[in-house]
Amino acid sequence: MVLDKLGSSLKNSVRKIVKKGRIDKETVNELATDIQRALLKSDVDVELVQELTDKIKDRALNEEPPKGASSREHVIRIVYEEMLEIVGEETEVPMEEQDIMLVGLQGSGKTTTAAKLANYFQKKGLKPGLICGDTFRPGAYNQLKELSQRIDSVFYGEKESEDAIQVVKNGLNELKDSKVRIVDTAGRHSLESDLIDEMEQINEVVEPDKKFLVIDASIGKGVKDQANSFNEAIGIDGVIITKLDGTAKGGGALTAVSEAETNIAFLGTGEKLNELEEFEPDSFISRLLG
Ligand code: GDP
Repeated sequence: MVLDKLGSSLKNSVRKIVKKGRIDKETVNELATDIQRALLKSDVDVELVQELTDKIKDRALNEEPPKGASSREHVIRIVYEEMLEIVGEETEVPMEEQDIMLVGLQGSGKTTTAAKLANYFQKKGLKPGLICGDTFRPGAYNQLKELSQRIDSVFYGEKESEDAIQVVKNGLNELKDSKVRIVDTAGRHSLESDLIDEMEQINEVVEPDKKFLVIDASIGKGVKDQANSFNEAIGIDGVIITKLDGTAKGGGALTAVSEAETNIAFLGTGEKLNELEEFEPDSFISRLLG
């Protein structure tokens, strides 16, 4: 277990843990405080941070290091394991025929992410098809159509229609030959009941294999309600955190992951269509601990 995984700000407090012998309470408390500071700076929810550091303190003081491991290695392992509990393991992306539905608030990056996913599956040899189920936002149709053309993906949308459910039905019929069909849905500025209704109906029509909630990395307050409403309405299978190329570290999105009891599926790291990464916990953990 390398120290680097824990991020530079924790290095000093970890170094203070003497290699051999028992770890004293003061050192553990100091480490816990440093972890708290780092995670709060990364926008991780206060309650999550508290729970995490309580567990770390308890385990660090009460668990004996396994044979051959130094106290320091033992504590680093505990911190890493407990962080992994929060961020979750990597998500296995099945390379098979599937329907994917994307939901999220307006501006979260859904449409861009839909095209990024199409590009991702295209590269893996699975023919994608994009369906514009957003009949609410003017411009959504053109945006997704243009993005589809850029990656040479099949596209279905109906520019003049206001009936998203019918458009999606038609799209599924038209794109029968596509292996991975990705449905972009409308977002609003907040979760109004008509958005939820429409999403539920699209969910019934598509019966998606995967339902991803797209969340902007800079999300702060309100994420809990958002995650709960989306999850109650359709059940979320994973979260995609976008805009991680900005200053935000994405800790806010962890609240959604924890509320919806799901994992992070992908990370968006730029505006370009190849800037989508499969989630990998180690680098995300280092990033959060900064
Ligand atoms: P939607 O309303 O949820 O469909 O959001 P859009 O896909 O239209 O994205 C909103 C804005 O965020 C656009 O300007 C995108 O180019 C931008 N965007 C989306 N994903 C990313 C990302 O990972 N990084 C950056 N820097 N910008 C992104």
